[in-house]
This record gives sequence, structure tokens and C-alpha cells, in this order.
Amino acid sequence: MTKVPQRPLPRPTPESKPFWDGCRNRQLLIQRCKSCGDLRFPPSLLCPSCSSLETEWVPSSGKGEIWSHAVFHNVYHPAFERNIPYVVAVIELEEGVRMVTNIVGCSPDEVKIGMPVEVFFDEVAPEVTIPRFKPSKAEESQVRTDEDQGPVLQR
Ligand code: ZN
Repeated sequence: MTKVPQRPLPRPTPESKPFWDGCRNRQLLIQRCKSCGDLRFPPSLLCPSCSSLETEWVPSSGKGEIWSHAVFHNVYHPAFERNIPYVVAVIELEEGVRMVTNIVGCSPDEVKIGMPVEVFFDEVAPEVTIPRFKPSKAEESQVRTDEDQGPVLQR
């Protein structure tokens, strides 16, 4: 059996650490500026609207819809070879911020702009949990997580 290469994992920065800690606790957190109230993602030190350094973290509903998406057919890292084809999408959360993620739990050709999705948390390593999204109608049982490869589609 061929050894599957190690998957690259996110490396939290001081600005993004609360986000990743939230994921480990099964909470999707987004930053809110304490000066002007704007929500933002990805995490940043300064508010892009008012340049304030005062920030707090608030829970998202974890629900949103697909704003844009692409189906990846090429292998950009050998660890993801068995995931091909997979969907990379920008989703817009109910709170209005957008994030890049994977859509799992359905076939790539079912993914459409405007499709309602919801977060689920994929523990890829003891210290890293990655938020991914699935169609809102998908049951948890439709998303199968492969220990080495991450979430794969149920066929
Ligand atoms: Zn602000």
C-alpha cells in the first residue's frame, strides 16, 4: 500500500488563533469591530472600515449560501489526490461575511450559486479542526470523513 502524504494544515497566526480555537470548540467565530460594529473575515488586526484595533469575536449561525464555486480536477498537492474532484467555494454567511471553504456532502455537479449551506466541523488533526460546508438538507451521515484524506463524497 502506498503511503499517503501528510496533508498541509492551517497555521494559526496571532490574529486568526481565536477563529481556529473556536473551530476546535465547534463554533464558527467571526470578528466584529468594537468601534464601528462591522463584521469581517478573514481575521485581521485592523478594522478595514475604521482602522480600529478594538475587536471581539462573535458566533456565526454557521448558515449561508454559495456565492461562487469551482470544481478542482487537478492535483495540487499529493495528499489531496483521492479527493479529486472537489469543490472550493466562497460562501456568504447569514451575517454577510464571505469565506473560502470546501463543499462536501453532495456531488460537485449539484453545487449551485445561491445554494443554502451550513457548516460542519472536520477534525483533521488533534489540534486542528477545519470548518467545511454541506448542503443544508444534507444529513451528517452523508458526509464521510476519511482520516487521511479529509471529507469525501458519499457515492
Ligand atoms: Zn471598525
